[in-house]
Amino acid sequence: MNERPEIVRLEQLVKVYSQAGAEVAVHALRGITLTIRQGEYVAIIGASGSGKSTLMNILGCLDRPTAGTYWLAGQDVSTLDDDELSDFRGRSIGFIFQNFNLIQAQTVLENLEVPMFYQGVPPAERRQRAFAAAQRVGLADRLHHRPSQLSGGQQQRVAIARALLNDPVLLLADEPTGNLDSATGQLILAVLDELHRAGKTLVIVTHDRGVAARCQRVIEFRDGVVIHDGAPDAAGADVGRHHAADAASRERTTPPA
Ligand code: ADP
Ligand code: MG
Repeated sequence: MNERPEIVRLEQLVKVYSQAGAEVAVHALRGITLTIRQGEYVAIIGASGSGKSTLMNILGCLDRPTAGTYWLAGQDVSTLDDDELSDFRGRSIGFIFQNFNLIQAQTVLENLEVPMFYQGVPPAERRQRAFAAAQRVGLADRLHHRPSQLSGGQQQRVAIARALLNDPVLLLADEPTGNLDSATGQLILAVLDELHRAGKTLVIVTHDRGVAARCQRVIEFRDGVVIHDGAPDAAGADVGRHHAADAASRERTTPPA
């Protein structure tokens, strides 16, 4: 066997949201078992409310499952306490959000350097890594701009650069092109494609069939379970169905007149 190492391994992962005062608990994930190997480029699709963000939050160690096991790069994350988990997250995960999540009061350089400051990276190395990451996404000439002085596409590039600083084993993107026009979205996807070619392991949540089509593997969720997991050409129809399902689920949530 020459299979690549497992980056993500989920076994019977369950997430139940139960809030005080809420009448019914929400079963957001109902027993997810899957493996993602090093270098895979995975799209997660599914109607609104199907559990995509819940999964991403658990993969990103921002939240913990109710039951089941998550191994990240061979580490069972349930054995880590909150401090260890946050440290492990900082070293292992790069997160790219729909809203970029940059700090508006900081320059591009500061947005890149400050997280490393908190991780105890020495100043010269912080500077060097921030420059290298900015260069990698084509923003070396915007280091002293603030986010408000950048286009949406440039802000997302900064966010990608920030996600790359620690050379994470797993890059997670939740609707990374959701707030961008389609031409800018294509440029951001080209950056992600490039990271894939460089060997990164990427998981992208998307509503866009064009995005899913360029990944190697598409995993479709419905009501907290995986209903499709395979190559994008086979999933093309699934993505179409997903849009129909999304519309249907919106209709279902519209109260009858
Ligand atoms: P998606 O990202 O696919 O739209 P989510 O993972 O956000 O879906 O949500 C899955 C289900 O869990 C939905 O029914 C949603 O309302 C519910 N949910 C998500 N987050 C919470 C939360 N913090 N508390 C309670 N219910 C939640
Ligand atoms: Mg979501």
